[in-house]
Amino acid sequence: MPVNPRHRRSGFVIGTPLTACLILLALCAGSAYGQDMADAVRVSQSDVSAVFFDVWEDPAGAADLPDVVALPEHEWQRVDGGSDTFGITSSVYWLRTVVQNEASQPVSLIAELAYSQLDHVVFHVIDNGKLQVTHETGDTLPFYPRQIDHPNMLLAFDLAPGQVRTLYIRVETAGSMILPLKIWHEPAFFSAVANEQKFHFFYYGALSVIILINLAVFLTLREKLYLYYALAVSGYLLFFASIKGYSFQLLYPDWPGLHARALLVSMPILALFSVLFCRALLRTAVTSPRLDVAMRVMVAFEIVNLIAALTLSYNAAVTLSSVSALVFFSLLFIAGPVTWAAGVRAGAFFTIAWTPLTIGVLATAGRALGFFPENFLTENAMQIGSGLEAFILTLALADRLYREREEKIRAQAESLRQEQARNEAQSRLTQAMTWDLVTGLPNRNLFEHMVDEQLQRDPTGQYMVGVARLTRLNEINRTLGMDRTDRLVRQIADDMRVLAAQLPYLQWQEEDGSQERVYQLSRDSFGLLVNTRLVTDGYGELNAVLQQLMEPVALDQLAIELHPKFGAAAYPEHGRQAAELIRNAHVAMEIAPHDRFETGIYAREYDIYSEARLTLMTDLRNALLNDRTDLHYQPKFCLHEQTIVGVEALIRWHHPERGWVAPADFVPLAEETGVITQLTRWAINRAIRDLATLRQGQPALAMAINISARDLLSSALPDILFTALDTHGIEPAGITLELTETAAMEDPERCLAALQGLAGMGFKLSIDDFGSGYSSLSYMKQLPASELKLDRSLIDDVDTSDNTRVIVRTALNMAHSLGYKVVAEGVESERAARLLACLGCDRLQGFWLCQPCELGQLQTWLSGFKPPSLE
Ligand code: C2E
Ligand code: CA
Ligand code: CA
Repeated sequence: MPVNPRHRRSGFVIGTPLTACLILLALCAGSAYGQDMADAVRVSQSDVSAVFFDVWEDPAGAADLPDVVALPEHEWQRVDGGSDTFGITSSVYWLRTVVQNEASQPVSLIAELAYSQLDHVVFHVIDNGKLQVTHETGDTLPFYPRQIDHPNMLLAFDLAPGQVRTLYIRVETAGSMILPLKIWHEPAFFSAVANEQKFHFFYYGALSVIILINLAVFLTLREKLYLYYALAVSGYLLFFASIKGYSFQLLYPDWPGLHARALLVSMPILALFSVLFCRALLRTAVTSPRLDVAMRVMVAFEIVNLIAALTLSYNAAVTLSSVSALVFFSLLFIAGPVTWAAGVRAGAFFTIAWTPLTIGVLATAGRALGFFPENFLTENAMQIGSGLEAFILTLALADRLYREREEKIRAQAESLRQEQARNEAQSRLTQAMTWDLVTGLPNRNLFEHMVDEQLQRDPTGQYMVGVARLTRLNEINRTLGMDRTDRLVRQIADDMRVLAAQLPYLQWQEEDGSQERVYQLSRDSFGLLVNTRLVTDGYGELNAVLQQLMEPVALDQLAIELHPKFGAAAYPEHGRQAAELIRNAHVAMEIAPHDRFETGIYAREYDIYSEARLTLMTDLRNALLNDRTDLHYQPKFCLHEQTIVGVEALIRWHHPERGWVAPADFVPLAEETGVITQLTRWAINRAIRDLATLRQGQPALAMAINISARDLLSSALPDILFTALDTHGIEPAGITLELTETAAMEDPERCLAALQGLAGMGFKLSIDDFGSGYSSLSYMKQLPASELKLDRSLIDDVDTSDNTRVIVRTALNMAHSLGYKVVAEGVESERAARLLACLGCDRLQGFWLCQPCELGQLQTWLSGFKPPSLE
């Protein structure tokens, strides 16, 4: 405990000739021990006495008390400061001091070697040449019994007034020979001990709270950082508690062996977890890779050190730990500033936290080397420093916790907002894609969807799809203008909706909260579905309604003739699917012979396409077999990269008699009849072969191949693809499979599984013709696609219709928020291209850029390609 230097000087009487003592000693040698009367620590009534002492080193450790007493005086070294250290040594050290009571009362004294780590200490008290007391203590013995219940090496003894006694203390220890000797008045000793313990246990208590808090945080958050910190602080706690001997006294008094290892182990533990904690807190792996390497090396070293602490001899382990402490300290000393400079906020905390500890270590070292005086601050500098460090780092962790929570809340709010925005955009998009914005009637997408659903619900029923077209609408538009025509169509739609509600056999569906019976198929045509089984009046009422359409309509004092035409196709006779029934109803309207105001009913014999369709498939199959089909390629231009990123393969077929047949006229038929699998196989092989050719000039080019739902559901598709890819040495990521959204909807679950399989193999997927059909956006969202192609119909009037522009913009936003790239297909004009670029489209495709063309032509085109300027 603190010793006042003034005291020390006043307590010592220095300068008595040693030679006199030596002679005396020599004379008294034998059974009696001499004492140096003049050169004594004089204790009086005033409180504490510090001490000077003499020391003698016994390298062999063989001397016993008589040998030591008989030593010639010049062998003794005077230690004035009351404390000396001799490093790690195997020598035995003898201390000698003389104490004299100058007071008029007897005094009770305590001699203290204030270092708890000494292995073996024997106090000898000599009074008047006689050995009075021998007291043995040290931390290699079990803690108890002790004269005084305290970890330091203590001896209590009394002095009568004027009495003089000499103390010889034999000390033997592995580890550092640190010898701070003090002589206390008993009450002063106990009050000093009480004060010291208050301080220590405040420190231990604070550290324990920090440990518990961080363990609790670790258990809740499962973030290792907090565990490391708790363990590092535990290392500090163990280090100080064991170096002061408190852990020995309180936790394992019967196991001196454990006590020795506890101190050794505490050092690598505190270093190891401090470094791990520092790495995690400062994120050195990211913020400073070089520092991180050093830290990892340090971690490895500390693990070795920990093993050494358990296995090596005490001295070797202590030496290793000292080296480690030096490196560890310097490393963490620079870690704070380095990461702080790199912009890590925790780096600032760490720097500030590490400073008091560094000061503490320097103060302790300075005290040990004699640069700083012995006082409360220097003696406890490391503990104060480490306590402050732990406190500041706890603040840093709290700061981090707070920030992370804030960030999390902000991120949650943000994702909620995005989700809301996406939902809004989706419902707007669905609305725009399924409702006619002029008339407010559900559109063709919804009609097909409604019809198909009804036919699925009631496959054995009998139905009729009816269509009506206002044939004069274009003419009216030209003469009356867009606005008036819009009003006219709206008026007709309203009337039809009211009239249709009176017909019990019209199929209706609840769409967006209202019962819908009339659907708008295009600007000038309408559709409805009749449940034939419910018709009991021979269509009398329906005809009456249709009759009204034939009357001139009054608009702005004009009577306008609409010249409607009607057609119908029956389920199941004329088709089993909505698309086919609608097509056939149109065919009937245009071709079937019927009176002007009558409804044309479909019949196969009038369908000029129908008979031809049957032979067409046979011809197609042969053409595919004999390689008489061809592929044309149309480039996709990326607006960001300003390059051609890929081409789409489109089949071309020149029929020997019919000439060029458009894919639209045979691909759907091929899908119906199953010929599509053969077509796709052929197209895949040809396209991949040609891609290998194209890549000689354009190594990064990708190939898009159209596939149908049927292909997707066939298990052969991956094999076909991989065989071709292997043959030509191309990676799956070079292939984009284009699938229309309607195809993907046919058997949603199986399609999704198949698409996920293909995506997993590395193929890219593209949703084709987006916006042309009835799509379930929630389903679309699940598709593992990377690209979405806006249907040509949307692009067609993107530069003329506000409505379309809204759809395109919302579709773009939604697709981007799902991470898709968006291709606009069918771009025919520069004006449309500019507009689409402006709206944020990623890629363009269309006649404006390049028509689909043969491989050779494409190569020429590609080699001369310059990005169009759209500024
Ligand atoms: P798609 O996949 O949407 O292909 C785009 C169609 O738009 C192509 O018609 C293309 O020639 C045409 N096109 C491209 N740019 C423009 C433009 O600026 N204006 C206009 N008006 N049209 C443009 P194509 O080649 O007649 O093919 C029609 C459909 O047939 C394709 O639509 C695709 O669904 C299908 N198809 C074509 N080849 C294949 C094939 O090899 N396999 C499969 N399963 N289907 C194919
Ligand atoms: Ca396509
Ligand atoms: Ca398309």
